Amino acid sequence: MKVGFVYDPIYLKHDTGQHVENAGRLQAIISHLEKTGLQQQLTPLKPRSASVEEISTVHNKQYITDIQNTGRKGAGWLDSDTVMSSESYQAAVYAAGGVIKATEAVMDGELDSAFALVRPPGHHATSQRAMGFCLFNNIAIAAKYALDKYKLERIMIIDFDVHHGNGTQQTFYDDPRVLYLSTHEYPFYPGTGGIEETGSGAGEGTTVNIPLSAGCGDAEYLLVFDQIVTPIARRFKPGLILVSAGYDPHWADGLALMQLSVTGFAQMVNTIKGLAEELCAGHLVLTLEGGYNHTALAASVKATFDMLLGNPDIEDPLGPPQRDIKSGDIDNLVRRIKERHSLP
Ligand SMILES: [Zn+2]
Repeated sequence: MKVGFVYDPIYLKHDTGQHVENAGRLQAIISHLEKTGLQQQLTPLKPRSASVEEISTVHNKQYITDIQNTGRKGAGWLDSDTVMSSESYQAAVYAAGGVIKATEAVMDGELDSAFALVRPPGHHATSQRAMGFCLFNNIAIAAKYALDKYKLERIMIIDFDVHHGNGTQQTFYDDPRVLYLSTHEYPFYPGTGGIEETGSGAGEGTTVNIPLSAGCGDAEYLLVFDQIVTPIARRFKPGLILVSAGYDPHWADGLALMQLSVTGFAQMVNTIKGLAEELCAGHLVLTLEGGYNHTALAASVKATFDMLLGNPDIEDPLGPPQRDIKSGDIDNLVRRIKERHSLP
């Protein structure tokens, strides 16, 4: 398997100070990939900057100008938890361009799959608003690009970050070409992502929300992937699968209350990879969203690459959950989502 990764030191220039979403996240990932020798098994891809035209397929032009101007002024807070430094705009256009580059490499057949290791993350950014550490919605911009350049009829976005990707959902809410599916802790930030949010107009049914109670771990996620994600993907038949890969549902992550292990992430990625091979010639592109425990994040990203490469053994240095949180009734939730989306 030929697997690529996008990375560039420009992503470290988005300086957020003591913020939980900081450059140390990517540094931890890269140093772990180097130390373990995994990086040598991967094809490096240099990102490019996304153009204003490409970004404006998702964000309005005034918003893009505002972000650029905030950067020019040196720094600033865009909302209560989203901050910019003087080079954040550059990092953000390269983050969007990085996911585009990964998508091109996969769709052009240069690679089997690719993972864009970028920041700032993107899935909370709406058409006109930065929020939740996100400036531009990288995955939505790449999806729009792929629809246009490769004339794809259908793209599936799978978002396993612990937070609901409200910005991505909004972008494609009435667009039947893009199916947005999210697993997330609920109720939780940003508040959206209930079962009843299923799309509108021509896009009715192409938004699939799986709002999980706190405490869900490997068993619950695998059940959901088996019972909902897999049949939804088979019914939709995408030409490309994009993944908002957030590792904040790991049990050691301080931002949320999920119980996934590194092994659980690997199993989810393996399922997604299998769906891509079955449904769309393996076309699979991942982009980094959250994940704030550096050890868990680095180990989980490495395990993701191991799965993409087809390496049989993964390392789970943190092991199973060391905290005790009981999940809600998963069988009942799965039944309600199946009913809502007419799954057998
Ligand atoms: Zn998150």
